[in-house]
Amino acid sequence: MDDCIFCKIVRGEIPATKVYEDDNFLAFLDIHPQAPGHAQVIPKRHYRWVWDVPNVGAYFEVVRNVAQAQRKAFGTEWVLSKIIGDEVPHAHIWVFPESGVTGDKNDFAGNAEKIRGVLQS
Ligand SMILES: [Zn+2]
Repeated sequence: MDDCIFCKIVRGEIPATKVYEDDNFLAFLDIHPQAPGHAQVIPKRHYRWVWDVPNVGAYFEVVRNVAQAQRKAFGTEWVLSKIIGDEVPHAHIWVFPESGVTGDKNDFAGNAEKIRGVLQS
């Protein structure tokens, strides 16, 4: 998909603050965060809907790892996730700590560093 914004992020044509990446999936911070560390987890291949992703089990493992990292990084058990799908026509899952956590939701570099720090530990 040449004009898909998430495909452009995967290809590096649009900058994003990445928190996790492997051969098949990418997690990056949402540019309009609901809370510190609000991430989008996407498959690198273009699929319109989450339910179209063939390796959806592996996909959810990545989502879980990001959520677990957010719990540690932001000191909360409560991490929300949303699968809606109408904002961008490329499969994506929102994961974000509850809004009561302390921190600046617009500190993208700092929040990404906290999440990456837990994922790599
Ligand atoms: Zn796409």
